[in-house]
Amino acid sequence: MPDTNVSPEMNDSSTSLPLDKTKAMCRGHHRLFYDVDGETKAERERRELTAKALCSICEIKDACLEVALERPEPYGIWGGLTEEDRRRIRRRGS
Ligand code: SF4
Repeated sequence: MPDTNVSPEMNDSSTSLPLDKTKAMCRGHHRLFYDVDGETKAERERRELTAKALCSICEIKDACLEVALERPEPYGIWGGLTEEDRRRIRRRGS
């Protein structure tokens, strides 16, 4: 059943990796995890720092990042990394 407290992408069942969304620190805060139209660079940096702080204390951080890298997930902050952070990891790994 979709969990309406997390981002729609986290309800995607296309992955076999375990992701216990009840433990997600982003529950109810998913707007922090995605780009906002018209935000300034400073606003984006503040938003991303706040989101990453939530990820840093999230119990499922490792599994979340694994899901995002496996898909690969093109948008948002997952497992404490932005889409650009994850692109850099994928480029290094290829
Ligand atoms: S690691 Fe971050 S994006 Fe992933 S579930 Fe936890 S808080 Fe949400």
